[in-house]
Amino acid sequence: MRLVLLGPPGAGKGTQSAWLRQKYKIPQLSTGDMLRTAVAAKTPVGIIAKPIMDRGELVLDEIVIGITAERIEAEDAKGGFILDGFPRTVAQAEALSKMLRAKGMDLDAVIEIKVDEPALLARMANRVRQTIASGQVARSDDNPEAFKARLKAYQAQTAPVSDYYARSGLLHTVDGMAPIEAVTQEIEGVLAPAE
Ligand code: AMP
Repeated sequence: MRLVLLGPPGAGKGTQSAWLRQKYKIPQLSTGDMLRTAVAAKTPVGIIAKPIMDRGELVLDEIVIGITAERIEAEDAKGGFILDGFPRTVAQAEALSKMLRAKGMDLDAVIEIKVDEPALLARMANRVRQTIASGQVARSDDNPEAFKARLKAYQAQTAPVSDYYARSGLLHTVDGMAPIEAVTQEIEGVLAPAE
C-alpha cells in the first residue's frame, strides 16, 4: 500500500498514520520528522532548513525531493509507505510521480483530511500545552505566528496538490472535524477496495 496523506498542520495526519502503519505494516515517512532530525544533527540540510522551518515556510523542493527519494529506496519502504507531509507543492507531486514511475509503481490513494482553520489553531495550542505539561519542549514552529505562516503556505502551495491528484482520480477527501475513530473508519472505507 502506497499512500499520501494530505492536510494542513494539525489535521491529524500523524494520528491516522499510527493505525495505518500497524494495519498495513508499512512505515510512515514524514519529511517534517526527517528535517527535524537533520536540524538536530546540524547536518548541511538541517542548517539550511532550520530558519525556514522556524518561520513556517516551505523548505526548497530540491531538498525535500532529495531526502524523500533516498528514503523510499530504503528496505523498510519496499512493501509500501505512508507519505506524511510530502508532497507539499505540485513540483514535489510531479517529482514523486516520476520517481514511482521509474520503479514501475504508482500510488494507491491520496487521502486529504479537511479541518477548518479555527479548529487547527485550537489543536495547535492544545498540543503545545500538552507537550509542556509532559515536560517536553514544544516545536519551535508551534507558535501562533509560525503556525499562521504554515497555514498560509498550505493554502497557497499545497492546496493545488489536491487538484493535481483529483485529476488523476487518486484523491479521496475525508472530514477531519469528525472524532478520531470516525475519521479512521472513513479512511478504512476509502482504502478497502485497494486492499
Ligand atoms: P511538518 O512536520 O510536516 O509540519 O513539517 C514541518 C516543517 O518542515 C514545515 O513547516 C516545512 O518548513 C518543512 N517541511 C516538511 N515537509 C516539507 C515539504 N514536503 N516541503 C517543504 N517543506 C517541508
